[in-house]
Amino acid sequence: MAGIYLHIPFCKKACHYCNFHFSTTLTLKNELLTCLRKEIELQKEYLSGVPITSIYFGGGTPSLLSIEELNAIFNTIYSNFEVENDIEITLESNPDDLTEDYCNALKKSTPVNRLSIGIQSFNDECLSFMNRAHSGKEAIAAIKNAQKADFENLTIDFIYGTPTLSDEQWVTNLNTAFAFNIPHLSCYNLTVEENTALNHFVKKGKQKPVDEMQSARQFQILVEKTAVNGFEHYEISNYAKSGFRAIHNSSYWEGIPYLGIGPSAHSFDGNSRQSNIANNALYIKSLSNNEMNFEKEVLTLENIHNEYVMTSLRTSWGCDPLKINPFFAENFNKKIAELIEKGWITQNGNNYILTFQGKLLADHIAVTLFE
Ligand code: SF4
Repeated sequence: MAGIYLHIPFCKKACHYCNFHFSTTLTLKNELLTCLRKEIELQKEYLSGVPITSIYFGGGTPSLLSIEELNAIFNTIYSNFEVENDIEITLESNPDDLTEDYCNALKKSTPVNRLSIGIQSFNDECLSFMNRAHSGKEAIAAIKNAQKADFENLTIDFIYGTPTLSDEQWVTNLNTAFAFNIPHLSCYNLTVEENTALNHFVKKGKQKPVDEMQSARQFQILVEKTAVNGFEHYEISNYAKSGFRAIHNSSYWEGIPYLGIGPSAHSFDGNSRQSNIANNALYIKSLSNNEMNFEKEVLTLENIHNEYVMTSLRTSWGCDPLKINPFFAENFNKKIAELIEKGWITQNGNNYILTFQGKLLADHIAVTLFE
């Protein structure tokens, strides 16, 4: 098993909370797509011939690509890698791009079989707070267009904890997704990241910092409502109906190798991680010379332990103590006992999982267990 991630670093508008790598100028798009295909060719040995079981277009905004541009990328992937039949192929998309024609063309003329729609909220006040390019009405239209085009495997991204989102509006957002029978939800608490417009506004006092009580309340609403509506809470931010877990994202949590293509994309081969330069012009410059510009980190025993603890604790199956390196076991067991005492961790069979309180503190708990 192995995955391919493609980073499409262009967006129509800069969302105020976003710290991903993207540009709102599309002038370099053609050159960048040529380089992206070149990088696929240059990296064809990276996964050592392991068949591809998922392809994921992320960004940025991959739905800015035309059908022809997507198919040129697919042709390059299929001619350089062994791709298994019936694999999950996800395209991240923004609601304002998902017109009826685009959805129909995606379904009929490309192998994309899963759409991840960046809705974030159906409420216009929240969308304007986030500086999103779409309205609530466009979000509804996007779902209808995708479903009319026969995309069954849909996932919606939501953000909660924004100062504009009342608990009632949060329930309305969730109920709207349930009414459309969306089988997968990714829900993120608003965080204020460095180098974002939101961070600047908070520092200047123009926006309030995130209200932790509101976030905790809205997380509780989310956990309860999704459970009642038949979703499995299989990862801290991800909820799926039976048979609709995200295959590509699950590979990140299960240590499966993946190749990242495009500026800022990360790759993992089981022993090392590498990250491409997060700059479109420099990415193009190096690939135009048939060279790749990335930083590589060979994982130490400590890195492997820390990553396993951090990712496994976020999942519903939890952290298996048998997978902890014996070298770190004594320290791990001592700290786990303290976390159980605090009510943040509990046992599910042999594995350790987060309690509801623990889920609110997941990052802090993982750091506690780091070597
Ligand atoms: S559309 Fe997505 S990647 Fe682009 S700025 Fe907004 S959140 Fe970031």
